[in-house]
This record gives sequence, structure tokens and C-alpha cells, in this order.
Amino acid sequence: MAIREDAMIVNALVRQALTSAQEVMGDNGLNTVLRTSGLERFIGNFPPDNLEPSISTSQYAKLNEAIEAFYGRGGRGILRRIGKASFQYALREQAALLGIAGVALKLLPEKQRIKFILNSMAGALKKSNPQVEAWVDDGGERIAYLESTCGICYGRQSDTPICHLYVGSIGEAVQWASGKEHQIIETHCLAKGDPYCRFEVGEPRE
Ligand SMILES: [Zn+2]
Repeated sequence: MAIREDAMIVNALVRQALTSAQEVMGDNGLNTVLRTSGLERFIGNFPPDNLEPSISTSQYAKLNEAIEAFYGRGGRGILRRIGKASFQYALREQAALLGIAGVALKLLPEKQRIKFILNSMAGALKKSNPQVEAWVDDGGERIAYLESTCGICYGRQSDTPICHLYVGSIGEAVQWASGKEHQIIETHCLAKGDPYCRFEVGEPRE
């Protein structure tokens, strides 16, 4: 596996992650994982909403790992819920960054709507950090979202995909764009030794 530079994550994204984690886990849960992941400086003190560098990608990955460890078997579901809350935060607070302010999707076919929001997510990430490599692949039977610089699993190793927070965000984004809940499957993960994390948009749940 290639060794990737431990890039910085900007304040706005850390603020988004902490606000969403607080919503799902409450203050006590969040404060505990901030302590176990060495981020106690953020207890009661979230970073401001700007694009200044905040924490390294490896610290962000540690926070994800700490949440998973704190909840044990429930960790995966909690991380997905935090991912969903993150997308809702982006809709609320970062519509301009996401490029969705005033966009009308209603007249587009469902596949176009899903592509639009996934491209918007990739674009927003790249705007916040030019080192990010994220893209949408619509050449196959199913639309997929890929990132080769995923911060969630940075420096981690696993036999199975572990970017549950990302699965939650993408699921919420697809639901927002299409009006339907779709299954999201992480087919590839950097933590498994794959060259990217890949999330496939599956069939809608009726
Ligand atoms: Zn990942």
C-alpha cells in the first residue's frame, strides 16, 4: 500500500463532524471519545466555520476508530447516523460550498439527480482541500462514489470495509436527491489494501 501524506483537514469539516457526532452521541459520549482520541482540546470548544487547517487526517481517523470502539457492536450504526447528520449539517450550513443553493432537481431523471449530489459532495471536499481525490463513476450498471484520499480509514487496516460514516453521508445525500432510501454498499476500502474507498448506490428500498 502506498504511503499517503497525512494531510490536514479544515476547521469547517471538523466542526461538521463534531456537531453531527454531538447530535447523535450527546455531550458525554462525544467528550469521552474526544479524550480517548487525543482531541480533548475540542471539548466544549468546536473549531470555527472556516477553511483553515484543523487536525491531521490520522487524528480524524482516530476519532472514527474511537467512536467505533466506544459503541462496540453498535458502532457501525452510530457512525452511519453521524454520517447522515453530517449531510444534513452540510445542507443547512454549507449549501454554497456544496453548490446546491437554488438548484431544482425535480425535473431530472433519478440517475441524474443522484449523480448531481454525489458530484457536489466530491466538489465540496475538493474545494475544502485540493489534495482530495474524490470522483463519481457512472460507467457501470450502478453509480459509485470513490475517494482515494479517504480520511475515515486513514492509516487503518481491516479485512472488511470500515468507512461507515461515509456510507451514512452518501445514503442521506442520495435520499435527499432522489426522494428514496437506497442501499449503499462499500465495495472497496483503503483499509483492506484497495486503491480507494468505493461506495455503490444500490436499489431503492420501497
Ligand atoms: Zn475509507
